[in-house]
Amino acid sequence: MSSSCSGNCSSCGGTCEDPARKVQNALAGVEHKVVVMSGKGGVGKSTVAVNLALALALDGMRVGLLDVDVHGPSVPKMLGVEGASLTTNEAGRIQPVEACGLKVVSVGFLLGSPDAPVIWRGPMKIGVIQQFLTDVDWGALDVLVVDCPPGTGDEPLSVCQLLLDADGAVIVTTPQRVASLDVSKSIKFCEQVGFPVLGLVENMAGFACPHCGEVTRIFAGEAGRELSERYGVPLLGSIPIDPLVSAQGDAGLPFIRKDEQSPTTKAFLGIVEKLSLRSGN
Ligand code: ADP
Repeated sequence: MSSSCSGNCSSCGGTCEDPARKVQNALAGVEHKVVVMSGKGGVGKSTVAVNLALALALDGMRVGLLDVDVHGPSVPKMLGVEGASLTTNEAGRIQPVEACGLKVVSVGFLLGSPDAPVIWRGPMKIGVIQQFLTDVDWGALDVLVVDCPPGTGDEPLSVCQLLLDADGAVIVTTPQRVASLDVSKSIKFCEQVGFPVLGLVENMAGFACPHCGEVTRIFAGEAGRELSERYGVPLLGSIPIDPLVSAQGDAGLPFIRKDEQSPTTKAFLGIVEKLSLRSGN
């Protein structure tokens, strides 16, 4: 990095080599950046990222969704754009794919087929994450939601180190104590790398009956509340297990627009309200 670069590159003209500064310049038109993380896979991190993005868009915001979950890029499937590929514009910048009112970029768009495994070594994965954060033409966005790989390895570390001015992380857990152990690691990881934690989302917190809407807690534990109290981070909301969430996800349909009155939709909209990512905030 140029020694005279102040961070917004007005002094170096964008020639500094610091990757985090490059990302900051590339995302200058993006007001809020929110990273969705989880301690481990399968807790519904991508489901939360997709529906959070949709809920924000439903709230009138311009939203981008960046899926850098290298080994399990589920966003294309969940938004019905599997098989889409990325193009570049005249300036050589990557154009996001438009899906369900969102601007979407996913590692999945780089793969030949949805069942192709990603067999990349660490530097390659980190290179792709860096390129997606630097070379995509998002235009002006109110919020960029980043679906981060699970765990506390190289990839989430790169995301946190590159997104210097992010609002912070939304960390997804399930109610069981077993999950809370891994999620504790994600919270401590954020603390150690100096990345703010916006709050926790407890997913699969009970079953929402499709007939009467009543929510019954079927998993033992209240990891969301316990972690929130232990680490002093807000519990942004609890999302029930809802058969429509997985059916719509599998069908590539936006869940939140289909059924706006369900307890699940209300839970997502409640999370958006608590995040209060309004313009100028
Ligand atoms: P992760 O990103 O943590 O690996 P996913 O978001 O891919 O997890 O979710 C895993 C599976 O669980 C998907 O089939 C998804 O549809 C389903 N799922 C996630 N959350 C819910 C929920 N609240 N209700 C019903 N199914 C859910």
